[in-house]
Amino acid sequence: MKTIGLIGGMSWESSIEYYRVINEEVRAKLGGLHSAKSVMVSVDFAEIETLQHAGAWDELTARMIAAARQVQAGGGDFVVLCTNTMHKMADDMAAAIDIPLLHIADATAARITARGIRTIGLLGTRFTMEEDFYKGRLESKHGLKALVPDEAERADVHRIIYEELVVGDIRPESKARYVEIMQHLVARGAEGVILGCTEIGLLVGQDDIDVPVFDTTLIHAQVAVEYALGEFEMTG
Ligand code: GLU
Repeated sequence: MKTIGLIGGMSWESSIEYYRVINEEVRAKLGGLHSAKSVMVSVDFAEIETLQHAGAWDELTARMIAAARQVQAGGGDFVVLCTNTMHKMADDMAAAIDIPLLHIADATAARITARGIRTIGLLGTRFTMEEDFYKGRLESKHGLKALVPDEAERADVHRIIYEELVVGDIRPESKARYVEIMQHLVARGAEGVILGCTEIGLLVGQDDIDVPVFDTTLIHAQVAVEYALGEFEMTG
């Protein structure tokens, strides 16, 4: 079994889910007292969030590279970056280390294409919904068509993540708003919805909508275990 190298704290509300899921998966697959071999580097999210909203992406890239090197030095065999947004610098991180990085969008796309889905709704932070590093990868590398909510909806999806979900504040009115936004994506042709922020699964899930829901936290953690056990192949 490979040692999973987690980069967490973005936010820890979702990192704790990664830790739980990877251990549950190893137990389910190997049984008995088996648990995952892992290391985690966990950052202070207040610093990260301030830099994100100030647009200080060079500084953030330097910090993520430093975290990836820490994971490698700590014995991680591959990197699992426990946030969608910070995959904005995934290529720079991968280039700075000697171990592979298991990209969250690739893990998620593998599950989506396995279901025969081609048009997918995407919820996440503004960075994830609006920039090319995530949507573009789904489209160019995996042949998916990604639909994002309209401007007013994106503002609400983003605000609820940063004001509520990353501090574990789960509100019924925010859940209702997310469900409404997911329904609009389905009405526009989405055959499924990506919960493309690692805290969204704390708010909504498969029970809230009729189309398949792809929770990136759950999928990334499960695929990390598959890779650790030699059951998943990363494609270049
Ligand atoms: N965890 C979130 C994500 O998956 C947002 C926090 C962050 O900006 O890293 O995008």
